[in-house]
Amino acid sequence: MARANAIYYATQDPFADFTTAPEISQVFGEILGLWASHAWQQLGSPAPVALVEAGPGRGTLMADALRAVRRAAPDFAAALRVHLIETSPRLKASQAALAPDAAWHDDLTTLPAGPMILLANEFLDALPIRQFVRRGPGWTERFVAAGQWLEQPVEPDLAPNLVPQGRAPAEGDIVELNEAARGFLAALGQRASRHAAIALLVDYGPERSAAGDSLQALARKRPTDPLRQAGSADLTAHVDFADLAQVACGCGASVQGPVPQGAFLTALGLFQRAERLARGQPADPEAQIAAARRLADPAAMGHLFKAMAIAPPNCPPLPGFPPS
Ligand code: SAH
Repeated sequence: MARANAIYYATQDPFADFTTAPEISQVFGEILGLWASHAWQQLGSPAPVALVEAGPGRGTLMADALRAVRRAAPDFAAALRVHLIETSPRLKASQAALAPDAAWHDDLTTLPAGPMILLANEFLDALPIRQFVRRGPGWTERFVAAGQWLEQPVEPDLAPNLVPQGRAPAEGDIVELNEAARGFLAALGQRASRHAAIALLVDYGPERSAAGDSLQALARKRPTDPLRQAGSADLTAHVDFADLAQVACGCGASVQGPVPQGAFLTALGLFQRAERLARGQPADPEAQIAAARRLADPAAMGHLFKAMAIAPPNCPPLPGFPPS
């Protein structure tokens, strides 16, 4: 999955295959930008501060966030330095057109050590998962060999990690582990517990860990066989928010959410802003409202997508997150 996605993002136009929230409505990036300015105040308004985005795609979210911040939060705009975590040379070039002053990184390790606000939309779902299958009293791991699925028994010491939450495993259950996402959350959790750092992660997946095969391949906006088009289709898997929250907490950070994307964006003024934009576009006022509905409607992206924040210990509730 790691190799296929590296080839995919380096050689294809992912936005021909799938559509993400920032590409649906400019309000998504605007809201995340203003959220970041509140998070910055929560950290004591440090200057300078790194505004980091992981997996920025075309750069649309960052461009919309910066525009909103320059207008509504000029102090934050003056303090921030943009850092983008991106491995695809092709996407880096699109991002450079929208955020020319950014610094690029392959991962979190080369970011400056000081205060940081990190945003990521549909980044964790692209990181490679491992899949394990319950067979008899043990587990096998699924691999790919010569274009076919292959199962091999796994070390018994992995097994304690593989019990689906809340029940005993059943024959044939598939359990997924995202070690790359866990590593990312551990690094974020360590930064949030030691330095002034807050992260907002928006992605898709259930609130509680669930057994099941969530690997999905998309080409031209249609599901396809993950093995048939390796490197030419987008591969994602559900994000296990509960598992990742546990990792961040284990590193000393506090976690807020996850909350459904619809509730999160609606609480932060999605529809008020969309209506304002609609009034400015009399030719097609419905388009802005329809885009907002797509982000918030539970039957579209409003429920399956979730927002989760990683913050320093004892951080008060951040915008859009109810007090726990
Ligand atoms: N956030 C964007 C794009 C989501 S697609 C949006 O919402 O539109 C996933 C993004 O993560 C792409 O920019 C892709 O190149 C990047 N990406 C995928 N795997 C990565 C990895 N291992 N390291 C860094 N970036 C990665």
